Amino acid sequence: MNLIFLGPPGVGKGTHAKQLSKLLDIPQISTGDMLRASIKAGTPLGMKAKEFIDKGALVPDQVVIDMVKERIKEVDCAKGFILDGFPRTVPQAQALSEFTKIDAVVDLVARESVIMANLSGRRVCRDCAATYHIRRLNGATKCASCGGDLIHRVDDQIDTIKHRLEVYRVQTEPLITFYRDAGLLLEVVVESGIDEDFLLVRKALEL
Ligand code: AMP
Repeated sequence: MNLIFLGPPGVGKGTHAKQLSKLLDIPQISTGDMLRASIKAGTPLGMKAKEFIDKGALVPDQVVIDMVKERIKEVDCAKGFILDGFPRTVPQAQALSEFTKIDAVVDLVARESVIMANLSGRRVCRDCAATYHIRRLNGATKCASCGGDLIHRVDDQIDTIKHRLEVYRVQTEPLITFYRDAGLLLEVVVESGIDEDFLLVRKALEL
């Protein structure tokens, strides 16, 4: 099953994509995580991407298109994959349709106040990229799975969040119409808590 998780930054795409990845035993492919790994590794691609990411802007289409095109050729994608954070523009979606077939697009929806609270309280492990929310951390500063330091992403600071949401509205929201017209869109409102919301995602996908 080849799936896309669509929705604004902070709506919970990564959280639900990870759970679904375990359930279906197919990989979650997060272009944001891949770009951050390139930054950490200090590759030329990472250095170039960092300029865009830190500002809350999108990296150029061709960079992420090439990345995803190569990634889904890997053997772990044979049974399917979950794209999380890709595509983010209409040209990315058009390019994707030229090299793979998508079975469904889960569009996660929440009010802006919920999204702002999710993003501003998000903490990420510097080492393994696991994500947490301060609501559930009880003051912990280390990752529960690997012991790494938990950090507040530069692009999760309030001014950059506002810019990322504006970028989403202008550049990514047109994909809702794109995939609705293609008959692939499943809308899920995710405002009830992680476990309840995940059940809604499963229901939408009839899983
Ligand atoms: P995310 O972790 O998905 O919120 O992505 C963090 C940042 O990585 C975004 O704000 C963009 O700068 C960049 N990024 C991730 N995915 C894409 C994409 N599909 N197209 C362009 N930029 C992306």
